[in-house]
Amino acid sequence: MANQDDNQFKKIISHAKEYGFVFPSSEIYDGLAAAYDYGQNGAELKNNIKEYWWKAMVQMHEEIVGIDASIFMHPATWKASGHVDAFNDPMIDNKDSKKRYRADVLIEDHIAKIEAKIDKEVTKAAKRFGDDFDKEQFVATNPRVLKYTGQIDDINARMKAALDGENLNQLKALIEELGIADPVSGSKNWTDVRQFNLMFSTELGSLADGANKIYLRPETAQGIFVNFLNVQKTGRMKIPFGIAQIGKAFRNEIIARQFIFRMREFEQMEMQFFVKPGEELKWYEYWKEKRIKWHKALGISEENYRFHDHLNLAHYANAAADIEFNFPMGFKELEGIHSRTDFDLKAHEEHSGKKLQFFDPHENKSYVPYVIETSIGLDRMFLAVLSASYVEETLADGSERTVLKLPVQLAPVKVAVLPLLKKDGLPEKAREIIDELKFDFTCQYDEKDAIGKRYRRQDAIGTPNCITVDHQTLEDNAVTIRYRDTAEQERIAIADLRNKVSDLVSVNNLLRKI
Ligand code: ATP
Repeated sequence: MANQDDNQFKKIISHAKEYGFVFPSSEIYDGLAAAYDYGQNGAELKNNIKEYWWKAMVQMHEEIVGIDASIFMHPATWKASGHVDAFNDPMIDNKDSKKRYRADVLIEDHIAKIEAKIDKEVTKAAKRFGDDFDKEQFVATNPRVLKYTGQIDDINARMKAALDGENLNQLKALIEELGIADPVSGSKNWTDVRQFNLMFSTELGSLADGANKIYLRPETAQGIFVNFLNVQKTGRMKIPFGIAQIGKAFRNEIIARQFIFRMREFEQMEMQFFVKPGEELKWYEYWKEKRIKWHKALGISEENYRFHDHLNLAHYANAAADIEFNFPMGFKELEGIHSRTDFDLKAHEEHSGKKLQFFDPHENKSYVPYVIETSIGLDRMFLAVLSASYVEETLADGSERTVLKLPVQLAPVKVAVLPLLKKDGLPEKAREIIDELKFDFTCQYDEKDAIGKRYRRQDAIGTPNCITVDHQTLEDNAVTIRYRDTAEQERIAIADLRNKVSDLVSVNNLLRKI
């Protein structure tokens, strides 16, 4: 089974490349790990997902507005959010077990084992000397205990020197010298130690000016929190209200793999909903339901989705769930819905010294609102849609095809217009049709190869409607429209095309279902 799924995943990845959806980044230089470029069809699909999300969240909700904050933020932001202090660890991998550990924790565990030996000596001696036992004296004089404490002091001093000096080689040397083994496998086959903070940093300004270290944002949410008051005041927003944002985020993921599922540069679509304290769990349930409806409206088979409620909550959350999707590698997180309490706004109040509160006219008092967050990775959504749409099938006429049965509203090209022949005025007629439709839909013109081959090309990129212009078109101003999923065809007047296609592919159809 795993192999079959692996195979399917490989096919999807190579299809995405072959048909201009996703390319490895800077491929002519052999690519860059965990970075990808969206090609001509990928960019359209991605934009359509964004449009669907933005409209569902912002346009359809009077009480939600959207912003576009900068990627660079004041460094204090990441102090307040906890990102500077968390995730800043020296990590080491065991090559055999493939497990990753904090190097200092491994050493501390080793020290704990020596301490246990001391305890053993003390217990033994206490038994032997009975009431006369003087623990302090024993520990200060017993040669064996002294040997152990000496070892501990030495290890601690060396670890401290290595950590303070950020000397990771010394840290590794210490692990090797102490003979520390992987607690799981017992293997001593270690990689080098690497310092790890998930944030990418860079310098703001020139070094000569005393440059400041700043970070590429690891999540878009903080851009929303720091603008809470700006938006609330200028938009005259009343609680409950939301702020939405689509934008890039960057994480120096330790293990970045599985195609666009886990990248170092990715895009998030996040919405923070500010509510009255005490009402957060009601809104949490509300957004869980809204968000799953957004997914299901796309018509992708419902068994591909499931909720995973978090039992171990992050320190700032009082409820959290993931919407998981059945990706080619199994069920994994696609979106998170989190009840973040007032953690972020309070932290920013503390670090900035500015009040981030809402004055509630009904209660005649100010408070720091609680927050419900919905956070979805655009690239993961792209992968979900792409992988659920990839189908290899045999048609009724016996021909085989690979088709992307994308939700039609998201398809990169909505209409392909195909003159049956490259002559007799058919190309001109086809161009005329495109010139009319292109104001509403992404269109593609294709006159090369036999019509069957052209259909296959459109199937492969998920085009829902192929319009064929033939000799009769010149007489009756009607065309043949062929539908992607059924491969059925019907004759339709050119004058009716716009409405027909619009009925089929309009995002409104999705929005009405939510
Ligand atoms: P994971 O546990 O998979 O690393 P996370 O819990 O750290 O994800 P969040 O911080 O909740 O993720 O981010 C919200 C969303 O952003 C995730 O649900 C996911 O869709 C997306 N996301 C997070 N990290 C990445 C990444 N490295 N590449 C692509 N998308 C990501």
